[in-house]
Amino acid sequence: MVVSAAAEPPLAVALYVHVPFCRSKCAYCDFYSLAGHEQLQPAFVDAALFEAGHWSHYDLLDDVPSLYVGGGTPTALGGELPRLVAGLLETACLRSDAEITVETNPETTDAALVDALVAAGVGRFSLGVQSFDDAVLRVLGRPHDARRAADAARLLAASGASLSLDLICGAPGQTEASWRGTLHRAVETGASHLSVYPLSVEGGTPLEATVAAGSVAAPDPDVAAEMMLTAESVLRDAGLYRYEVANYARPGNESRHNLVYWQGGAYLGIGPHAASMLPFRALRDVASSECWALGQLAEDGQPARARFSRDVQLLDYLKGPLASPGPFELLSAAQTAREDVMLGLRLVRGVTHAAVEAAGLPEVLRRLEGEGLVESEDGRWRTTERGWLLGNRVFGAVWNG
Ligand code: SF4
Repeated sequence: MVVSAAAEPPLAVALYVHVPFCRSKCAYCDFYSLAGHEQLQPAFVDAALFEAGHWSHYDLLDDVPSLYVGGGTPTALGGELPRLVAGLLETACLRSDAEITVETNPETTDAALVDALVAAGVGRFSLGVQSFDDAVLRVLGRPHDARRAADAARLLAASGASLSLDLICGAPGQTEASWRGTLHRAVETGASHLSVYPLSVEGGTPLEATVAAGSVAAPDPDVAAEMMLTAESVLRDAGLYRYEVANYARPGNESRHNLVYWQGGAYLGIGPHAASMLPFRALRDVASSECWALGQLAEDGQPARARFSRDVQLLDYLKGPLASPGPFELLSAAQTAREDVMLGLRLVRGVTHAAVEAAGLPEVLRRLEGEGLVESEDGRWRTTERGWLLGNRVFGAVWNG
């Protein structure tokens, strides 16, 4: 542990771990994860714990409000996953009320593993269901069917942990009736949180190839937009309110980890493809000890915030989990203020007029208001439904000032 000259309160840093394994690859997925490679899993857990120890040495894990183990499919680690969670809890100082989430998928959710994770301290599971319609699951190339997804949801709901489901809309061939059926079945699982995303066709994926070959129709963004509206109405009627452009929760069940991202909080990502964001001063101390080159600020002024992510193959990560995670993106105080407004406009509650003024953005927001993309009420700016549908225009205008 590094002893600082002045006794400053520890920096609150949310912790994310990227587990790069899946049972198989889904047709639409461009996330970094490897199917199979079970023989590398113990070494991955060792490397991730080694990396956690490294950040902890620099006092960056002394006040952790949330731990999120994502991927990939963390539960593809099987019995190695409770060892990873237990090791992280030994290394990092989590708050007594910290939110601890593990992502899972139906094909890797089993009773013994769920029990072991709950015993290790996991209080929240995020289950990748995507659809309760087998035809849609086949188009998405998911390795599970609707029945397996329902069984996994039942098991997780009975574990005593809180449950979040991920759903996808706008898949080729998905009808409004199929989507409504999925939403109703998702509500019936008792999940207290739902994430709803429109399908996008990413370059280099099998889905892109089948769309290009004409075997399946390209997703229609207008259909996906209609389905997002359907989700808003069905879920509101079921008591799950929208708090972010793609996220719904029963009151008090919002994802505290994701709120850190949307509120400009500090977070550290561990693993071969994980993103981090720290106040610049916190990273500077680590970089000077580790001889990492931080690069230049993109515009005039002092750096206030640093964003960085690893983007390495698993074998390279296993060889050097403490290698410099750059390239580093350094943001000035002005860019940081604009970024906070941009992130805050993803939230239903929006951002305060004071934050918009501090970021020098009142004129930009008024221009967006003229286009019907944001609105002002009770001293806050909020994104409208149309603004969410045209999110890139809103977020781009705010970021570019
Ligand atoms: S389970 Fe998730 S991370 Fe794994 S291949 Fe499918 S979409 Fe990608």
